[in-house]
Amino acid sequence: MVGPMSRSDVVRAIGLTRSSVGGLVGDLTQHGFVREERAESDGSPGRPSPVVVPESEMNTVLAVEVLVDTVSVALIGLGGEVLDVSRRRRAVGDPSPQRTVGSVADMAAKMIARLDRRARLFQVGCAVTGLVRHDDNRVILAPNLGWADVPFSEMLAERLDLAVPVLVRNDGDMGALAEVRRGVAKGLDNVVYVSGEVGIGGGVVIDGQLMTGRVGFGGEIGHTIVNPDGRSCLCGAIGCWETEIGEDALIRRLVGVEVVDHVDRSAVLESARADAAAGDAAMLAAYAAHGRWVGLGLASLINVFNPDAIVLGGFLAPGFPFMSAAINAELDRRALATVREGTVVRASGLEAGAPLLGAGELAWDGVLADPVAAVEQRRTA
Ligand SMILES: [Zn+2]
Repeated sequence: MVGPMSRSDVVRAIGLTRSSVGGLVGDLTQHGFVREERAESDGSPGRPSPVVVPESEMNTVLAVEVLVDTVSVALIGLGGEVLDVSRRRRAVGDPSPQRTVGSVADMAAKMIARLDRRARLFQVGCAVTGLVRHDDNRVILAPNLGWADVPFSEMLAERLDLAVPVLVRNDGDMGALAEVRRGVAKGLDNVVYVSGEVGIGGGVVIDGQLMTGRVGFGGEIGHTIVNPDGRSCLCGAIGCWETEIGEDALIRRLVGVEVVDHVDRSAVLESARADAAAGDAAMLAAYAAHGRWVGLGLASLINVFNPDAIVLGGFLAPGFPFMSAAINAELDRRALATVREGTVVRASGLEAGAPLLGAGELAWDGVLADPVAAVEQRRTA
């Protein structure tokens, strides 16, 4: 999504005729999505083209992100502006669907209360760390949350009581969507997004389209097997990539103990980064060891997808500066050089969180496919 544009830039951007664009802008203005402002003359002859400005604060969607440790909610205005955002750390050991829905509804209610009374909320988009079936928005399996077959969309819709569609998708897929729309992979057509949380999520964009698989479960790169003699994964298999590069694995390497259940993860990660930045050899070695496993998995992804970019998100993003040398060394050893040529590996820079912003993009896609119909639907709801 984009911000203000002059009408003549709109004509250039979407390739329709001046009069078609005039008609469309007229429809959108009439339905309250945009307004036209007179542009300052830039000194060139003729009347300056009016500037089309999105009515961001009057047209909103709700974005929701459900990860293992945190639940986040944001109000995203037309044009992509984050109008309000709130993140809660969860109590350890209780990510039940009911409590999750309760937290989301509570945060959402506070945000909606702060909105202008005339503002419209069109849809809700959710990014959940689990396998989501697209046709009914159910979370079929979320090993790291302990969820199985949860009708998350229905539960949240009932609790929010907003009478708007509630779409649910996988967090890695939504991260990938955010990165190609507004992140470090903006405008690229072939991108693999790898998110480091407690588990490892992923999303794959091929030829500009999100790869979904048959029912929506595609892109589970965290569960590709990289170490057949390795650790048990929460999914039931042994030696998934997640067991080698997930948060537990990094914390084990950083603190040098096997059992990390009662470690304050965010405190460990923060102090490890500070120490690594100050040149602490033990911390740098731990990050390098982690980076080798990251690189090993990325080599296969590069060989399979020949991407323009790989984007590392979640805790892998702030750790990237300390891992990049080890990642590159591993790619030199293992990826096919001709396939890898031109692929860049980057850290996500989306501060609000890529899955959360992707959930907002998802919700807006539903509205912008037919904005006038969305207004009518709201009226009759
Ligand atoms: Zn697994």
